[in-house]
Amino acid sequence: MILVSACLIGCPCRYDAKNALVREARNLFEQGFLFPVCPEIMAGLPVPRRTITIHGESGFAVLDGKARVIDSENNDLTDRLITSAMQCVAITEKFNISKALLKSKSPSCGVHQTYCQDGLIFASGLTAAALKRNGIQIFDETCDLNTVLYEK
Ligand code: SF4
Repeated sequence: MILVSACLIGCPCRYDAKNALVREARNLFEQGFLFPVCPEIMAGLPVPRRTITIHGESGFAVLDGKARVIDSENNDLTDRLITSAMQCVAITEKFNISKALLKSKSPSCGVHQTYCQDGLIFASGLTAAALKRNGIQIFDETCDLNTVLYEK
């Protein structure tokens, strides 16, 4: 089983109420390989919702108390998003999941790139950082999904 950003399998859970469907990911979900999560929905945020950005250098910095996650109305969502990121980690532990396929560029799920207050940066989002720190192998939707499935 592989953790997956729910928007990648077609769930309309993005801030703009759209999805980010990747057909191959949807197929893997329908075959029972993927466990969908949306950390922002798990944090109790609505759809649609305000955009959020990391005010600091990365999701790791948020976990370390050196950065915050703020929405476009200046609401601080840090604590609830840390809670949902750790819930994702707990899911991987409960279901013995060792890999995650996450949506690129999201402040929550972004793997190599995420949005900070100054725009797109090369850094991990908050949930991606929490999963990485707990030993989960992380991929984004630009990867060959066969690699995600079969890489040891
Ligand atoms: S990128 Fe992550 S937080 Fe954003 S909508 Fe997709 S699953 Fe939810």
